[in-house]
Amino acid sequence: MGAINKPSLRLWFPCVRQEWAGLLVASAMASLPAGALAADPSCTRGAQQAATVNAQSVKTLVVSPFGRPETGWKFYELLIANEVGTNCPAGSAGFADALARWQGGHTLEPTGIMNELTLDALKQTWQQRRPFVLATREGCPEAPEERMLQRAAVSESYGGKTILLRPKALAAYRQMAEAARKAGLIPRGSALFSIFSAYRSPAYDAARCVRENNCQGLVRATCSAHRTGWAMDINLGAAPGFTPDSSADANRLYISQTPIYRWLVRNASRFGFVNYAFEPWHWEFVENARANPDVHN
Ligand SMILES: [Zn+2]
Repeated sequence: MGAINKPSLRLWFPCVRQEWAGLLVASAMASLPAGALAADPSCTRGAQQAATVNAQSVKTLVVSPFGRPETGWKFYELLIANEVGTNCPAGSAGFADALARWQGGHTLEPTGIMNELTLDALKQTWQQRRPFVLATREGCPEAPEERMLQRAAVSESYGGKTILLRPKALAAYRQMAEAARKAGLIPRGSALFSIFSAYRSPAYDAARCVRENNCQGLVRATCSAHRTGWAMDINLGAAPGFTPDSSADANRLYISQTPIYRWLVRNASRFGFVNYAFEPWHWEFVENARANPDVHN
């Protein structure tokens, strides 16, 4: 396991008891929003056998790309489809064909069948686009001086919280929000797409970790991407009964199927943003994401 895995392996914590997680996922599956991939007639052409296997495993394969066991890989479906360059849903022959091509280009057996090795290779690809993850190989990046940060408008903050960001990150967020609004994804007056967390000082995170008795596997106390001023958590909604930042699998799954998340997966790199794949709401500004030829728009 490479050094790149080290920070992300600590980036989860079970905020719901595991025995509840399966039930919550099952109930969330029943009420998913309408942002999922739609089957195009051309998606039926391709590797049929692999498609049959994927159609089952997308709901059942136990994977743990970020260190926490998860049942199925539906949560990652849009990210994977975008990465391998298809619009076809996980259980289709078109998806299997595209996956096989991606596997072949990444020293994996080109079966078109999702497995833990392939998901791990995809995760490595996503993580390597995050300068924060690369920087933590050398230690934890320094936090900027707060006078270098810019405050978001009240209308851009979730619940009126103080939101501080690097000026370039805030400007890029504003461009992205404007484009999402133009695409009809943010209803007027809605808190959707507002920012609920951005810069957090190392001292603040350490105190919160102690106060809430929740250190996110120590990452909050030691080295969070939020200390850089480049990272932001965007409100993409929540499953009924959850808050927008709940990392419960049922909530992650719900958000991962929303039209707004689908739009972000396809478009955020145009504005310089990359996603932390475990948390649909967490986006980091990376100036050169625009120029990354691996990112499909
Ligand atoms: Zn975050």
